[in-house]
Amino acid sequence: MLNHAAVLEEVAGCLRDANPDAPLAVVVVRAQRVREVELAHGYAAGAALADAMYACLRAALRPGDRIHRIAGHDFLVLLPALRGRAHAALGAGKCVRALQAAFDIGDGAVVQVAVAAGIAVAPFDGTDADLLCRRADSACAAAASQPERHAFWTAPAIPLETLHDDLRVAIADNRLELHLQPIAALPGRAIGSYEALSRWTHPRFGPVPPDVFIATAERGGLIGALTRWNLNVALRHLVALRANGAPVRIAVNLSVEALQLPGFVEETLDLLRLWRVPGDALVLEITESALMRDVERCTHLLTQLRAAGVSIAIDDFGTGYSSLAYLRRLPLDGLKIDRSFIRDMADDRRACRIVSTMIELAHDLDMEVIAEGVEDEATLAMLQRAGCDFVQGYLIGRPIDAADMLDAVR
Ligand code: C2E
Ligand code: MG
Ligand code: MG
Repeated sequence: MLNHAAVLEEVAGCLRDANPDAPLAVVVVRAQRVREVELAHGYAAGAALADAMYACLRAALRPGDRIHRIAGHDFLVLLPALRGRAHAALGAGKCVRALQAAFDIGDGAVVQVAVAAGIAVAPFDGTDADLLCRRADSACAAAASQPERHAFWTAPAIPLETLHDDLRVAIADNRLELHLQPIAALPGRAIGSYEALSRWTHPRFGPVPPDVFIATAERGGLIGALTRWNLNVALRHLVALRANGAPVRIAVNLSVEALQLPGFVEETLDLLRLWRVPGDALVLEITESALMRDVERCTHLLTQLRAAGVSIAIDDFGTGYSSLAYLRRLPLDGLKIDRSFIRDMADDRRACRIVSTMIELAHDLDMEVIAEGVEDEATLAMLQRAGCDFVQGYLIGRPIDAADMLDAVR
């Protein structure tokens, strides 16, 4: 039986030997209700059971796989040189099935045990021996309630209260980051603007998706502070980009909750003056679904922003059930077609027709059209034929850290 230090040394050795392209799975296989076997049949029977389990695992696995007994009837299985994460589940499944055998533990006693296998895979779930072992160990609990009795480690959900408190501190301490994604004009693909996208890496839980922390901010009264941060940092980078000769505009996502805060419009116009940025260099993107919840009030506020030259674009268009009557009345300059339509264009004639119709409609209403989520040349060619004005997506460029972007421009 390996002690704790030896286990870690063994895993660390395998990690050192591992080919960086071939994942290593750390599997903790835990037998349940073994104590009942020991109490009924004696400790010698318990030891015989552990030996039988080891032999059974050894016979089931590949010669290069390593098996160690780490505690009573717990085993550490290391599966090196896997072809992918899915292969770790195949290996763990083999362990579980092998141990479903009936074990002869001497004196005519035959027992069956229930096992659960928790899996952590390097490099995806960590590259540190201790962390991987702890993660595989904690996945055992989830495995015991699965029909296949094995489970991958998954990151724990962040408690909402923690998320809210930590986000408040992150905004106040300026610990969010701004990423910029280029938007290209068709047909020449010149980069005329960037979309500002916020990023937050939680000190304990890692990257938090923007949809999650924006929703937290909207619900918890933090959206004003977040939007102020966002506008301020976006304008700061815009000024620097323009100073370096890039004739660019910046698009900032705006929650309806922020727009409706008392004083928001004045504050935004103050910021533009403070940074000496002309209103027409700023685009505010509002999602269609949010806008439709309170059209009347939004119309009034957006009209004031527009009077200062700020452009207004409707984001994720096609997912929010705009009525065409509203579309005619709202003060809008641009329409961003949701990436779910763009993604399907190349293989789905109907998606392609819908996009063409959206483009025609927008042009008839004197709006510019931006297609989001453009990932391949075929889709871009179709958009160009349909008369789309701007494209954004991984094909043109991924969102990158705004500070890196500035370095590149300089
Ligand atoms: P959005 O405004 O529609 O932003 C576009 C999203 O699509 C971004 O996700 C971007 O990374 C992603 N994307 C861009 N090109 C591609 C592509 O080619 N393929 C695919 N699959 N995805 C692409 P992200 O950054 O995760 O943001 C998600 C949403 O969170 C944004 O959707 C926006 O509604 C919101 N958001 C992000 N930052 C802010 C912010 O600072 N304030 C507010 N209010 N909302 C924000
Ligand atoms: Mg957007
Ligand atoms: Mg969008």
